[in-house]
Amino acid sequence: MDRRQNVGRPRSPSDNRGRLRTPRARGSVRRGDTGAYPLPSRPWRHMAGMLGNRGTQRAIESLRRDRLLRAPLSPEEREENLTAEPYASSEQLQNAYDNAPMLRTGASGEAVALVQQGLLDDGVPLPLSTTQGTQPPDGLFGPETAQGVRAFQDRHDLLVDGIVGRETLGALQELAGRRTAPPSGETTPTEPEPEIPPLSTAEYVIQVLRSADTRMLDALRADGAFLDGMQALMSPAQFGEAAACLCLVIPGEVQHPAEAKAEALRIMAAQLAGDPATTRRAIDRVRGLIIPANRLSTDYPPFSSLAGTATADGRTWDTVRGIGNTPLGDLRYSTFPEENLLGIPCTATYTPTSGPQAGIPQALGQYPEGYSVATHEFAHSLHGAALTDDDSETIDDAYEERKDEAEDAPTDTDMWVDGREGCYASTSVAEFYAQLSNAYLGTNAGTDAVTGDTRHNGKPWVRAHEPEVYGILERVYAGSQVEGTNPVSAPLAGGAAAPEPAEGAATAA
Ligand SMILES: [Zn+2]
Repeated sequence: MDRRQNVGRPRSPSDNRGRLRTPRARGSVRRGDTGAYPLPSRPWRHMAGMLGNRGTQRAIESLRRDRLLRAPLSPEEREENLTAEPYASSEQLQNAYDNAPMLRTGASGEAVALVQQGLLDDGVPLPLSTTQGTQPPDGLFGPETAQGVRAFQDRHDLLVDGIVGRETLGALQELAGRRTAPPSGETTPTEPEPEIPPLSTAEYVIQVLRSADTRMLDALRADGAFLDGMQALMSPAQFGEAAACLCLVIPGEVQHPAEAKAEALRIMAAQLAGDPATTRRAIDRVRGLIIPANRLSTDYPPFSSLAGTATADGRTWDTVRGIGNTPLGDLRYSTFPEENLLGIPCTATYTPTSGPQAGIPQALGQYPEGYSVATHEFAHSLHGAALTDDDSETIDDAYEERKDEAEDAPTDTDMWVDGREGCYASTSVAEFYAQLSNAYLGTNAGTDAVTGDTRHNGKPWVRAHEPEVYGILERVYAGSQVEGTNPVSAPLAGGAAAPEPAEGAATAA
């Protein structure tokens, strides 16, 4: 499920009412308290610390303060409960343990009293709340208790915010467990809770990026120190996953945003799984834009400037679903057509304004199952903006050599990755590289629209026939395989399967 469903959803104070049997204390939700709960504090602090200099740390902290970061607990985490008494039997504390809602200034009652007692047991003084230690805790979460919580959090290396949620209750429970553990020797001593966060820092950063909103992604893309920190911290494959989040752009009109996003990220991560230097250049220079299944590519910048113009092979750009390496500012964009990601029908139509078809809406056709437009177009952008000059030279040489050979054997269907001379891969060095990318990734199913030859697909063909280019693909894609793209027989969204694609209805751009 897409985590965004849990993120950024405006919550009113009444949202949790159904879950609370204990009455909410008056004033427990203050004005300006949107209920946008902070991240689990320890992994976040860990992340900030590992991502380098204090400037970065401050930038991340300010993002968090601005509530740009709202990673919720995972479903698995929410299923965890407080298990140690006296905390476990308090429903309000169980809710606070799920951060829904956390206990903070203004709260009152038995749950607050339990927290206060936990602070006292850990040696945090609360003289006002206990009438100088002569009375049991008063159960009022006022300034003294907030200050006591801060002292406790600081002592146990938690995020210091004076609010009681998952982390603070976890630490309180751990202490209670130690106090009630049987003396050593009698039974197996209780192991203290591990201090390690449930996710590694790298995994945690990726989780945050996957659920981040546009504003946060914009801020992080522009934060060189943050990107340096990620690159140093992560494995190449993890860095590729993170980079995918930073390179993907999703317009609001996408019909199945969660499914399309998941598939686009899967594909991009595969193509960014290798050499981190290439991946870093992709973050800085390359974007993939999902084109909604009911919209034209030319409805969106940077492709809108192509509207009404013709492609090299005489089509109208408006009808083309796959477009790559298209500049806008300093960036190169490629399309990720929603229908090709999900295997659903393309319902967008193009209505020519002149010619014999003027005024008649034209359907745009469909690619064969197992052929990915997204990998092809993203490969164009990587080729244009992220590979090195040496890489480009190697690819140019391989293409020229192949062109020469094809002159002597024009009917050899093993000549090009798409078949004989004249096939799509033979038309330019860019298509040569993009189609070899598809074959390497396993997304080159189907037949060539011009020659009718079956396209070659899979790493073995590429390795045997284009070893020089294979070396580059191996370095950049690191062995990635992208299974099951454009699943028209089993669409990833929308129910009904698409109609049979018309023969040769669409081809790559
Ligand atoms: Zn192309």
